[in-house]
Amino acid sequence: QDGDWQRKLRTQFPIVTAHPDLTYLDSAATSQKPRAVLEAVETYLTTSNANAGRGTYPWANRTTELVERTRERVKEFLGDGRPRRSTVHFTSGTTEGLRTVARDWLVPYLADGDEILVPYADHRANLEPWLEARRLLAERGVGVRVRALPRQESSGDYDHRALADVVGPRTRFVAATHVHHVYGGDMNVHRLRAAVGPDVPICLDAAQSVGHLPVRVDDPDLDVDFVVFSGHKALALPGTGAVWARNTRGPELRPEGWQGTPNTVGVVSLLAALDWLDEAGPERIDRHLTRLATRLTDRLHRLDRYEILGCPAGLAADSALPAAQRRHGIVTFRHRDIPSDDLGFILYSHGFMVRADSLCQAGADDRDGSVRVSLHVYNTQEEIDHLLAVLGSLE
Ligand code: PMP
Repeated sequence: QDGDWQRKLRTQFPIVTAHPDLTYLDSAATSQKPRAVLEAVETYLTTSNANAGRGTYPWANRTTELVERTRERVKEFLGDGRPRRSTVHFTSGTTEGLRTVARDWLVPYLADGDEILVPYADHRANLEPWLEARRLLAERGVGVRVRALPRQESSGDYDHRALADVVGPRTRFVAATHVHHVYGGDMNVHRLRAAVGPDVPICLDAAQSVGHLPVRVDDPDLDVDFVVFSGHKALALPGTGAVWARNTRGPELRPEGWQGTPNTVGVVSLLAALDWLDEAGPERIDRHLTRLATRLTDRLHRLDRYEILGCPAGLAADSALPAAQRRHGIVTFRHRDIPSDDLGFILYSHGFMVRADSLCQAGADDRDGSVRVSLHVYNTQEEIDHLLAVLGSLE
């Protein structure tokens, strides 16, 4: 049943159906776009394209209305039950979203002697803004301590048992990741909330979860204060993203304002993308992505010459992987003899488009590189099996 559902959805991606010999496996970088998103953009540009927040004629008013409607749609999509309290701030992606939280919200919020906890082995976009905030504050004579979220080497997850050592009475803010962009694992933010208590704001980098699995802030296990994501990884156009802010712990985050021309086309594409994703069903999308990633992980794990990143060392190749190793549509690996960029070229000669470099992971040893396969709803089991056959032939 899920097979029919998936085949039908796949046909809605024109770039996928136009290139039957190519397989796109780099959706963690950016996703492909369904026809509904392309059509929404064309309709907007051919019926009411104008600037937002100014003008007194219908096209301008309609543009403003679409931007405001998208803000409300983001809240609804994220399961926000108190939309009057929260803010949605549009950005160009997760990088700008995290920077916005750091500069516009965190810097004014922190006081001398405060401590913040941030991830040192996740995406660089989720480390640099916090270090920059510390620098800006230091220039003003405000000393802030940045502490690393402890992590488990074997899986990439945070080491929740070691959290007690870094959480203290001055802990005022935590930045975390929802789904890791290299390991694909859920980072279990509910355990972070349990460790820091009910009053400390948590900012979630949801670049690899929004659009891939249900991300609902009404879920008690997702009691976070900021959800930062990339629209372009969730089926909307390049240059789109948003920050959702709960605004109940600490000051309010303001919307981006109307100082310049907003990316109206991008916002319109985000509205269509969220409608499309809701209709497809985030639970179902997650089931599909996790099933394919599990199949790839389990079979790759049985091949001798491959090392899967974030797999506990010493796990016998013939044993099933533990449930904690299940990946939300992302699997990263290395061949023991073939350098990763060569492996990327070999895979492209078979039509597979993968990411083959350092993956922007903070603190990672870039020399080794790795190959990342990242999936979205258009990918099929046949594509995974074909990939496994090619990888198997390189043993
Ligand atoms: N955080 C994570 C976890 C990511 O995977 C990425 C994109 N690879 C980013 C942040 C940056 O996103 P963007 O390119 O939209 O700024």
